[in-house]
Amino acid sequence: MPLGATIVPVCIARSFVVLLCALPLLAGAQSAFTPAPTAAHPAAPVVQQAINAGRSNPEDARRFADDALGLIATQPEPDLEIRAQLVLCDYFLERDLVRAREALARATALLPLARRSGLRAGVQNCEGEVHEAAGDNARALSAYERAVSEAEVAADGEMLANALYLRGWLRGVQGEYALALVDLRRSIGLYERGNYPEHSRTAVNGVATIYNRMGDYAQAQVYFEQAAKAQLAAGLEREAVVTLYNLGRSHEYQGRWADAEGTFTQAMQMSRRLGYARGEAYAARGMAAVHNARGEWQSALAQLARADALADPLPDARLRAHVALARGKAMRGLARPAESLTALTQALEVFRQAEAYADVAATYAALATTRADLGDWRGAFDDQQRLKETTDRLHARQLDQRVLALKVEFDTAARDKENALLQREKATTEAALAQELSASRLKVVVIALAGVLAAVLAVVAWRGRRVSRTMQALAMTDELTGLPNRRAVLARLGSLLAAGSPCAVLIVDIDHFKAINDRHGHPVGDEVLRAVAGTLAAELRGAMSAGRLGGEEFLVLMPRTEIDPAMHLAERLRAAMARIDPARWSIALPITVSVGVALARPGPGGIADVLRRADDALYAAKAAGRDRVRAGQAALVAA
Ligand code: GH3
Ligand code: MG
Ligand code: MG
Repeated sequence: MPLGATIVPVCIARSFVVLLCALPLLAGAQSAFTPAPTAAHPAAPVVQQAINAGRSNPEDARRFADDALGLIATQPEPDLEIRAQLVLCDYFLERDLVRAREALARATALLPLARRSGLRAGVQNCEGEVHEAAGDNARALSAYERAVSEAEVAADGEMLANALYLRGWLRGVQGEYALALVDLRRSIGLYERGNYPEHSRTAVNGVATIYNRMGDYAQAQVYFEQAAKAQLAAGLEREAVVTLYNLGRSHEYQGRWADAEGTFTQAMQMSRRLGYARGEAYAARGMAAVHNARGEWQSALAQLARADALADPLPDARLRAHVALARGKAMRGLARPAESLTALTQALEVFRQAEAYADVAATYAALATTRADLGDWRGAFDDQQRLKETTDRLHARQLDQRVLALKVEFDTAARDKENALLQREKATTEAALAQELSASRLKVVVIALAGVLAAVLAVVAWRGRRVSRTMQALAMTDELTGLPNRRAVLARLGSLLAAGSPCAVLIVDIDHFKAINDRHGHPVGDEVLRAVAGTLAAELRGAMSAGRLGGEEFLVLMPRTEIDPAMHLAERLRAAMARIDPARWSIALPITVSVGVALARPGPGGIADVLRRADDALYAAKAAGRDRVRAGQAALVAA
């Protein structure tokens, strides 16, 4: 197997793929971020049509872009005009670099007026592509670098995806496979998030190409086959042509000539049907490689002549270099070493300028054999040396890059996994915190409510108790005098008797009270009642208690008191009444009371009995002339 065939990775002309891809990429980016006011402009739908047509029909795209610019001329709208100019930039990039540069210049001039800041990145992308088409990869890369930064600053996802795609592709061409994969993967993620399946597929194609260059042909082939199938199913024929060409290169590199021939043939037929000159030119170069491999030199030259004719108006230096490389091999096969040398030298120059090491190595390999044919042994040896250096460098780079790419892939996957894990953890923690927070809030609310409820209940209970105590007090108190009423004082007597305490009972009755009422009025009578009650209460000591029996009669209870102390207290009470000053009510006579005293005996019927005996004693006091104390009969018996 020839050395070049085993070590030179499949190299797809950068611009070939990019030019096909760039148009839909820009189309997606612009449509996704069309500001509302732009949509109202009559040119807005036309620009959109131009962008959409760019995918399938470049001539329509150009016509729509021109129409839109006509409308914009009467009603200026910078964002729309920039987008239309970008469509033209893409269109001319494949056909006329001067016109492409004009479109770029116009778009650049409009940038200060643009509202959508991401358009700066779009213009940088176009600038990079113009440089790349002209073979200036260094300036192209720096334009893409700026585009990535601008798009990142503008947070313009679609423009960023485009810039990353373009930079990734170029990095791949320059052998920076790991970095290329990072860019392409990012662009795929952005396209998928932005729901641009075709763009994402194009970027997957880019990844496949990187795999190819790194020597992972089997994986690359799987991607290309999948992509071609999907593109054909979606009716994206121009894109499918590119993918088929890449697939053919993959076969070519692996020396699977029958497969390569089948694939290039398909690409060629589709290109012809579409009138897609560039696609046909690439397919013709592929067919020439197949013929060369089989020693069919004349057939190869015929294909190359066709490719040259098709490529002639195209600003695609590397396509012409690839054609030259194949021609150099065919000329050598036809024993025309001088022409071979010329063709190969041309190719070498372009490949070296583009720093396409794989192509450079393939060209040195061909050059060495041609020089040997010419008898230039020294030159052949030098070319072999350079071939070895280049392939060594390429191998080392491939190995490095494969390890690096694996590492990047692994790191990216690990980081993604870690991020996903962290996200999940964060979400779980947040949910738990939220739950805890709401639970603790609920707890606080519940506690507060419980507190409020408890306070309300306490107040209600307290007020209830107070009310009931008040009610009870009211029920047991004589309203006028404030003394316990009849019920209270009799209940007290009942409980004393029930407890087995002997008890002296006094009934105190105001003398001639009716006469006070009659002479001084009922209110004065009330005041006298209050004064008598107050005097009674003031004279009580220890366990003694008093209450109003009713009318002008009071009951005094003296627990564990024998008749003598009882008679003594009764006398004291009677004397105390004499100290009430009747003059304040203009009453002439002193206030006097008669008192009946009895001793209560514990046992059933005790209350009625003692009251009757006390009342009898009172009656006796009244009968004896009033203002005096008398002891009841039972008390005497008891005594
Ligand atoms: P005696 O010396 O025999 O006890 O004569 P008295 O007038 O005190 O007794 P009597 O039973 O004839 O009269 C009692 C009066 O007390 C009749 C009633 O109108 C009056 N009275 C009863 N309750 C009240 C009251 O709450 N206020 C006033 N102002 N008078 C009352
Ligand atoms: Mg009376
Ligand atoms: Mg009386």
